[in-house]
Amino acid sequence: MLKGKTALITGASRGIGAAIAEKYASMGADIAIVDYGDAEDEKAKIASEYGVKVESYKCDVSSPDACKEVVKAITDDFGGIDILVNNAGITRDNLIVTMEEAEFDAVIGTNLKGTFNMIKACGRNFIRRKYGKIINIASVSALLGIAGQANYSSSKAGIIALTKVTAREFGGKNVCCNAIAPGFIKTKMTEELGSDDEFLKQIPLKRLGEVEDVAKLAAFLASPESDYITGEVIKVDGGLAM
Ligand code: NAP
Repeated sequence: MLKGKTALITGASRGIGAAIAEKYASMGADIAIVDYGDAEDEKAKIASEYGVKVESYKCDVSSPDACKEVVKAITDDFGGIDILVNNAGITRDNLIVTMEEAEFDAVIGTNLKGTFNMIKACGRNFIRRKYGKIINIASVSALLGIAGQANYSSSKAGIIALTKVTAREFGGKNVCCNAIAPGFIKTKMTEELGSDDEFLKQIPLKRLGEVEDVAKLAAFLASPESDYITGEVIKVDGGLAM
């Protein structure tokens, strides 16, 4: 269902981003992995399992210039970009009174500014092609306000606002922009959470989410099945934040 489309996915060397890249590849999309770190293993996995075109690019999404350069390289290599998934994200948890300025700035810089940088860098490409699907990975942390996550909750709340602005600014050019708000998903980011943690008791489905749970919604939002949906924030959280 995504054959002939090119998807740029940030933070796709592992975790939720890698699951989204694999899901899109299984639907026939060509994949551009954009990551801070090394993504050669994930690139090789996608190439061998799905036989689509796949390239990986090193880029720090918090840098506007790096985003501009990587989008140009991907456009040259693939001929254009149809789907942008802003998934790269970090946490630097601390209570407000002890949070360092650097911890606040790093999380806002990667999560919120990184998402803005990539939307800006891809914007003209989408407008020119009169087509685009932008999927931003937010978090239920934005909706709940989690203690110890002043930086992270704020960055994700900013992403939700940015999603709505993008939906309005690009809507006339047939570009949809939606956000996914995952709850607690099993990845490196959540590996320190124990199975007996208090938060688990608050999840109606009584389990952590799998990366594939998020990838399935990302697939829907990238496909023609969601062509009349824009500016939405959809939770994948086992009922945690209802
Ligand atoms: P993860 O396993 O830590 O993966 C994050 C990826 O983003 C890593 O590959 C990381 O690269 C990359 N990255 C970090 N900073 C970057 C930067 N400045 N530029 C480019 N790439 C960068 O995280 P995850 O759990 O899969 O989370 C993916 C997204 O879902 C994040 O936005 C996160 O906030 C969101 N989310 C996750 C959960 C959860 O429970 N896991 C819940 C809600 C929302 P390196 O390998 O180099 O570090």
